Amino acid sequence: MVFDIQAHEREIFMIIEQAAAELDAPAYVVGGYVRDRLLARKSKDMDIVCVGSGIRLAQEVAALLRPIPRIVTYQRFGTAMIKHKDLEIEFVGARKESYRHDSRKPAVEEGTLEDDQNRRDFTINALAVSLNAKNFGEILDPFGGLHDLESKILKTPLEPGRTFSDDPLRMMRAIRFSTQLGFEIEPNTLKSIAKYKNRINIVSKERIATELEKIILSSTPSVGFKHLFDTGLLAIIFPEMVALHGVEIRNGKGHKDNFYHTLEVLDNLSKKTNNLWLRWAAIMHDIAKPPTKRFDPEHGWTFHGHEALGAAMVPKIFRRLRLPTDHKMKYVQKLVRLHLRPISLTKDNITDSAIRRLLFDAGDDIDDLMALCEADITSKNPNKVKKFLRNYVMVRDKLTEVEEKDKLRNWQPPITGEQIMEAFGLSPCRQVGDIKSAIREAILDGLIPNEYDEAYEFMLAKGKELGLKSSVS
Ligand code: ATP
Repeated sequence: MVFDIQAHEREIFMIIEQAAAELDAPAYVVGGYVRDRLLARKSKDMDIVCVGSGIRLAQEVAALLRPIPRIVTYQRFGTAMIKHKDLEIEFVGARKESYRHDSRKPAVEEGTLEDDQNRRDFTINALAVSLNAKNFGEILDPFGGLHDLESKILKTPLEPGRTFSDDPLRMMRAIRFSTQLGFEIEPNTLKSIAKYKNRINIVSKERIATELEKIILSSTPSVGFKHLFDTGLLAIIFPEMVALHGVEIRNGKGHKDNFYHTLEVLDNLSKKTNNLWLRWAAIMHDIAKPPTKRFDPEHGWTFHGHEALGAAMVPKIFRRLRLPTDHKMKYVQKLVRLHLRPISLTKDNITDSAIRRLLFDAGDDIDDLMALCEADITSKNPNKVKKFLRNYVMVRDKLTEVEEKDKLRNWQPPITGEQIMEAFGLSPCRQVGDIKSAIREAILDGLIPNEYDEAYEFMLAKGKELGLKSSVS
């Protein structure tokens, strides 16, 4: 079969052909670029394999391009990269790999194109397009990758057990590609992942995190998590999530399966946002349900405090998964901690004060919190779903109303600690903090408006109450 070369590729392909001919180093486009183009997905990374030196070929190609691009060379890996228009093109010599048991880094030697295709992870990633005069544009497909692309199947070129044992990262990649592309993992391949799951322990946490991120950012992330769960990989990399699985029944009362519920919330939210950290908040929102689960003969199953404990569990899990522990983690913690609050605002007779407190606590993340809460509605009863959504519309309206009035979203105290110290001639001490908190509480309770003058009066009164003398007349 011939690759349908598009106008924007023709120039660069012909230049590579010319350079490869001059060096007598036959060249091919391989891997992800070919796969993605055949799937009509955008691809900016192009990998060129040549039978010879990849670095020499990059130099030759660069010399033929106008303007002449800069070459970034990685001597240690024998690769070189150039940027041309919106493409990043990487050149490497064809290689043959052999693996040792304790490392996913193989010993590498020069090889043929076939050797190079043999070492690829999936049949759909082993396709090559010739850039050589004798068969320019021909697709070289030794493992039936074209058929698998057509049938949407992920399958290893060689025996799957060998492929996964050699480099266990490929297990995560299989699940990631199947989630991203909507492909089935061929049954034998899937079975092998389950069999070799423990080999994942030789893969670095960072690599695992990268694949996990790609799964989470897919349009239906649950696909990947179900595979991770079914193969046993999830129990190794993220046991807290596995603990959500299962239903316990006592006195005829059961609770929902929080694993599948979490996945539903994640999918719901993924239809609304590409925000990775909001998606992480969905993954973590019920993470403390297993450790807080109790059975009360009267009320059935309860999970009291799971939002607070869940927020407290986030740092340990993020650290272990090598996720950032900066403001992104704090954001996830905040959403986990607050995820039940909007429900409490759907009751009748809600005071402005309760609304103000949520605005104050959520700050700029209030809309993300509401999106999480809406995604958290997973009832199978459409009438209930409608009712709950309607309630949240009312909460949103109330939030907007109070926010317009009180401007609490990014609240800054109207009176600073310095102003308090100055007013009472104090140096930094506990009383300054007490007065500051009292002003904040008075504003949140609606006793005084969120304004300087009223807050100042309130501060003077509070100081007096504490026995302080005002140093301003
Ligand atoms: P994406 O860009 O979405 O990550 P990709 O397939 O382009 O997908 P890369 O990691 O850039 O992924 O890899 C390029 C090619 O190199 C793959 O298509 C595959 O042929 C090969 N490859 C990458 N990683 C492995 C691996 N761990 N084992 C075997 N082959 C691999």
